[in-house]
Amino acid sequence: MTNRLVTFFERFNPLTQRNVFILLSILIVAAASLIIVNYLTIKTLSAVRAYTNGESQYSKGEKGAARHLIMYVNTHDETHWEQFKQELGVTLGDSIARVALSQDDGNLEVIKKGFLQGRNHPDDHDDMIWLFRNFGRISFMANAIAIWKQADGIIHQEYLLAEEIHTKIKTGHWTRTDQDAVISRINSITGLLTAKERAFSNVLGDASRRINGYLFVANFFFTLIIIGSAIGYGASMIGKIMRSQRELESKNTDLTLTNHELDNFVYSASHDLRAPITSLKGLIELANLEDNVAQIKEYLALMQQSLEKQDHFINDIIDFSKNKRVSLQLQEVSLVDLIEGALNQHRFMLGAERIKMQTVFRSDKAYSDPLRLSILFNNLISNAIKYSDEKKEQSFLNVETHATDTHHVIIVEDNGIGIRPEDQKHIFDMFFVTQNTNKGSGLGLYIVKEAVDKLGGSIAVESEKNAGSKFIVQIPKNHVVSLERVEHADHTNGLS
Ligand code: ADP
Repeated sequence: MTNRLVTFFERFNPLTQRNVFILLSILIVAAASLIIVNYLTIKTLSAVRAYTNGESQYSKGEKGAARHLIMYVNTHDETHWEQFKQELGVTLGDSIARVALSQDDGNLEVIKKGFLQGRNHPDDHDDMIWLFRNFGRISFMANAIAIWKQADGIIHQEYLLAEEIHTKIKTGHWTRTDQDAVISRINSITGLLTAKERAFSNVLGDASRRINGYLFVANFFFTLIIIGSAIGYGASMIGKIMRSQRELESKNTDLTLTNHELDNFVYSASHDLRAPITSLKGLIELANLEDNVAQIKEYLALMQQSLEKQDHFINDIIDFSKNKRVSLQLQEVSLVDLIEGALNQHRFMLGAERIKMQTVFRSDKAYSDPLRLSILFNNLISNAIKYSDEKKEQSFLNVETHATDTHHVIIVEDNGIGIRPEDQKHIFDMFFVTQNTNKGSGLGLYIVKEAVDKLGGSIAVESEKNAGSKFIVQIPKNHVVSLERVEHADHTNGLS
């Protein structure tokens, strides 16, 4: 389960800086849109609620006015007439606000005064004005305004009727027949208004339900975008962390290995460096006791052998260090020049005079690292000489180069003492030497393998005991990966 989770996150490539910017922009825009949509929706719903509330005040005012008008008709008491006017004023206030709002240059003070007279709460005025002005042409609001206008028309009729009643009562022209007819008209006007008021409320109620629906969809949509981008961003970051953790673990393993290798190296190197010194000390003591010049010369020859071995070993250590510390320097190189150089360097080595050296060059120019190639050729050539077979009538050392589509192939072949099959798999190990030779430190082929690895190539051996050995090296023609290291190499110090 944990592994599957790790793979899931690792599948998300770490985002590039540009993609992080895009993702963050989407996040910010989506979050800002969500805030704006919510703000506008809440403002709209609050204004719709204020209008519904206003309608209720309008309706109460109108019904109160009708009640006082009927009482005035029945009692002719002027107090009812005054109360009628007061109640009708509520609906008239809303009417004044509506008319002013419909005009492009409608005065804000007149509008607010009208709404106040219509018993609308002052805190709601701004939202009501905002909704009317911005949504006045949108279907639900346009419908509500049309119904409101019709209701105002009916109120106007009621007002005219009331004026007529008032004049008749005041002038004494009021009759019993008038009374019945007027009450029935007032009731019919109230009935009409009630229908309009209900229609107004229904339109706004519908609108508020629809707005709620839109709000839910918008919230859902933007939240999905925000969650989606956040998950994408988070997964990519987790992937990145997991990848770096793996890299760290693998680097840790490498470090542990290197440490172990180093321990091993220090132990074996110090031992190998001391051996010739001990042998020299012994030989000097023997020489001191000796008077025979011929014997002394023999001791001196043995001393020279010891010193040469130590010199060879120190050279191996320098190569080892160079190979470890100097970064890859890819450049155009001549394989022919490098191989010829290595052969010439070894022509005067002990035993080299008996060996016939031959070369066949079918490939020359390569794009590679000359330091590693030199280490490689020097070691393979010196081994072929070192491990030549004195018993053979004619020893030879052949070096051949050719190219495949992808690689340069270098073959170093000798007819020396050969390597036993059981030793062949160990010859590239650090400090491995075969038991029957005492000619080297066991570092040479280890360094060769490391160098070949750095060049991105491979090395193989074919050998038969007493017949000879053949080392086949393949170096890639296009070592692209290493180019990054080449740039890096400009800033690092190497041993010389
Ligand atoms: P050394 O410094 O001892 O030569 P190397 O790592 O170069 O160490 O070689 C490891 C061992 O492989 C040698 O001790 C030797 O026995 C064997 N070897 C390497 N090259 C040859 C060769 N051309 N012919 C026979 N044996 C070889």
